[in-house]
Amino acid sequence: MVERQRRGGGGMRKKKVCQFCTDRKLVIDYKDVEMLSKFITDRGKILPKRVTGTCAIHQREVARAIKRARIVALLPYVRD
Ligand SMILES: [Zn+2]
Repeated sequence: MVERQRRGGGGMRKKKVCQFCTDRKLVIDYKDVEMLSKFITDRGKILPKRVTGTCAIHQREVARAIKRARIVALLPYVRD
């Protein structure tokens, strides 16, 4: 007897998924500093997508939003 794979069972899947792909209600908005701050370090650097789990498409949008937020001085620029 063939045991059918359960949908969504999955066990210990620790793979990060893009939260913007998962939750379609999430909008990347440069004015949403609280949301954007999750994607930058405390020094203001943009976190790589392997850290946040964001896909390439949304990572680019996040980066764009962060840059925009910097322009309007909502977020600090990185100072190296
Ligand atoms: Zn995505």
